[in-house]
Amino acid sequence: MPQKRRTFLKTTSLGLSALATGTAYHCQGKNTAITNITHPIIISTWDHGMAANKVGLHILKNKGSALDAVEKGVIVVENDPAVQTVGLGGFPDREGIVTLDACIMKGDGQCGSVAFLQDIKNPIAVARKVMEETPHIMIVGSGAKQFALEMGFKEENLLTEASRKKYEEWLKTGIYKPKINIENHDTISTLALDAQGHLAGACTTSGAAWKMHGRVGDSPLIAAGLFVDDEVGAAAATGLGEAVIRTAGSAMVVEAMRHGQSPKEACQSVCLRIKAKHKEVQDLQVGFIALRKDGAYGAYSLQPGFTYALGQHETHELYQATSMF
Ligand code: ASP
Repeated sequence: MPQKRRTFLKTTSLGLSALATGTAYHCQGKNTAITNITHPIIISTWDHGMAANKVGLHILKNKGSALDAVEKGVIVVENDPAVQTVGLGGFPDREGIVTLDACIMKGDGQCGSVAFLQDIKNPIAVARKVMEETPHIMIVGSGAKQFALEMGFKEENLLTEASRKKYEEWLKTGIYKPKINIENHDTISTLALDAQGHLAGACTTSGAAWKMHGRVGDSPLIAAGLFVDDEVGAAAATGLGEAVIRTAGSAMVVEAMRHGQSPKEACQSVCLRIKAKHKEVQDLQVGFIALRKDGAYGAYSLQPGFTYALGQHETHELYQATSMF
């Protein structure tokens, strides 16, 4: 583990950013009520969330919207070919084709999504266009690509040399047994609260490596990979998409917060539900991040190793989420 990362890495059981800065809020089993938003905050999955948060927090501190912060933040990761689970350079499916999934959501319920998108490196920006320029929420496959091209996005080859090599290595056995997220690289999900008290979230991925052609996970699905409600808070997922879809994971986290659970408790209770629905959980990884409308945050995962990045004030830090096992 690089030294730099180790210095950033902290362990936390529950983030109470708002309390730390004196923001008064109530959470007594009913809707939380904001009395005073003192500062914006941004939270992202995994180590690569640090890079997203840096761009996003800069936007937030200049009175930008949570929507701009999450979109522009995750684009940094989509554009990084070294991140092999998102955007350009993402691992391909079993046919050797890179297919991308993404969704974006605002606290007022506006949302957009693309899935099974090929040859366009910024699916999150296309998802935002779906939200803003069409009467629909989700567009997939060749239709999504056609729409992206019409919106002026550039067609390009997303399979880098490094990812092609890994794919060729995998082809030697061709065994598909998803064991994702145990290692530290995966979907980027970002949640932000802006200075105006609005929430937004973005989730973007190349999905499970070596997946079946046409497979779509939780990441572009509103309620599964991401859910945002200005009345309560926001949540997003990373991990085995099938497990998250089965439990409508992110929406359930938000609903648990609505009923009074803290962000971390809410993430934990949905992880428990996932555990209960699956017989074999030793290789199953799912992690959630959650951000309440008062700035309180939390995370939880099934397996150890899930990190999340937090940006607020002048600081960016990486935390190790508490895990069930
Ligand atoms: N949730 C993503 C998927 O299942 C991948 C991940 O986050 O590990 O496609």
